[in-house]
Amino acid sequence: MSPKAPITQDVMTIPRKLPEGKVNLVGLTRDRLRETLIEHGTPEKQAKMRTGQIWQWIYQWGVRDFAEMTNLAKAYRTQLAEHFVIEIPEVVTRQVSEDGTRKYLVRIAGGHEVEVVYIPEDDRGTLCISSQVGCTLTCSFCHTGTQKLVRNLTAAEIVGQVMMARDDLDEWPVPGAPKDETRLLSNIVLMGMGEPLYNFENVRDAMKIAMDPEGISLSRRRITLSTSGVVPEIARTAQEIGCLLAISFHATTNEVRDVLVPINKRWNIEELLQALASYPKVSNSERITFEYVMLDGVNDSDEDAHRLIEHIKRHKIPAKINLIPFNEWPGAPYKRSSNNRIRAFANIIYQAGYASPIRKTRGEDIMAACGQLKSATERARKSRKQIEAEAGLDRG
Ligand code: SAH
Ligand code: SF4
Repeated sequence: MSPKAPITQDVMTIPRKLPEGKVNLVGLTRDRLRETLIEHGTPEKQAKMRTGQIWQWIYQWGVRDFAEMTNLAKAYRTQLAEHFVIEIPEVVTRQVSEDGTRKYLVRIAGGHEVEVVYIPEDDRGTLCISSQVGCTLTCSFCHTGTQKLVRNLTAAEIVGQVMMARDDLDEWPVPGAPKDETRLLSNIVLMGMGEPLYNFENVRDAMKIAMDPEGISLSRRRITLSTSGVVPEIARTAQEIGCLLAISFHATTNEVRDVLVPINKRWNIEELLQALASYPKVSNSERITFEYVMLDGVNDSDEDAHRLIEHIKRHKIPAKINLIPFNEWPGAPYKRSSNNRIRAFANIIYQAGYASPIRKTRGEDIMAACGQLKSATERARKSRKQIEAEAGLDRG
C-alpha cells in the first residue's frame, strides 16, 4: 500500500441476502440488469427491450410489484417475481421540523440505520443522502465523524433513499398523466453520513441511475457530491459522474486543516487545490462550492478569509464559498462563530468577487442540520473527553 492510498477500503459492501435467495433489481446498472435478466431465463433476444420496460417501471413509475408491470406478459411477470424483488430501505422513523425539513431514519440490511434529510425551499426541494454508515474519517467538528465506519452502502441503498423520499412525497407520476415539471424533490446532495468518494463505485452507479432520462431523470447539475478531499478520486468524479462538486475546505492553513479535516495529513491544501483546478473543465460544470464551517476563534479570522481567497485565486478555480454556521451536537468541542463574525467573513469574500452565501440552518430542532447526523443506535459511543482529546483541543 502506498502511503497515499485511501485509508478506507477494509470494509466491503456486504451484498444483501434476500429471502429465498431472490435478487434485488434496484441499484443495478442497465448492463447489469440486462445480464441478470438473462441469467434468470429471459431470452437474450428480448433482454434489451425487457430491461428498458422494467427500468421504466422501477425508476419512472415507482412500481415495486411485478404484477403491476402491465406491458409484460402475465407468465413473464410471474417468472420475474419468482427470482427478483424491487426493494428499497425501510423507513423506521420520520420527523418533521417546524420549518418543514423532514428527517428519515432508514434501516438497511444488517439492521444498520442511516439518516436522510429532505429540505423544501421555495424554488426547489433538496434531498441530503448518505453514502456510508458512519465514516472512516474523523473530522473533529462532525457528529458523523464520531461514529466509526460500519459499512459502505450499496448502490441500491443509495438510490433507494431517493425512491423512499419520492414515496413519502407522493411524487411518482401516474401512468398516462403529463410529466410534472415542478418537482418537490429536484436536487440531491451527497452530504449526509459518510465520505462518498470512499464508496466511489456504488455512489457512481446510484447517481447514474438517478440521472437516467428514462427514470428519475435528475440533471447532473442538480446533484452535488461533497467530499472532504479524497484527491485521487476527484478526477474520476468529473469523468465518471459529472455532477457538481462541493469540497469541505474549512481551514486555510495545513496546521488547522490537519486538525479539522484530518485527511489533510494525507492530501494537503496544495494537492487538493491542484486536483480541484481541473474539475470544472473535465466535468463541464461552472464552479466548485467551497464549504467552510464557521468555528469561533478557530478558522474565522479576517486573515483566514484573505488566505482563502488567495488560495482560490492562485489556482484560478471558479468558486462559490458556502459559509456554514457550525451546528452543535452533544459533546461538540467547538462553538459557532457569532453572526457578526460570519457576516464580516462573508463580506471579505464577496468584496473579492466571489459569492459567499451563508447556509441557512435547517431542521436543527430535529438534529437534521449539517454534521448532526448520526445513527441513533450509535449515539454517545464516544465521550466528550475523547472527542476533545482527538480534536487536539484544550478548552479547560
Ligand atoms: N463526508 C463528506 C460529506 C458529508 S458532510 C464531506 O465531508 O464533505 C457534509 C457537510 O457538512 C460537509 O461540508 C461537512 O464538513 C459539514 N459539516 C459536518 N459537521 C458539521 C457541523 N457540525 N456543522 C456544520 N457543518 C458540518
Ligand atoms: Fe466524514 Fe464528512 Fe463528517 Fe468528515 S465531515 S467525518 S468526511 S462525514
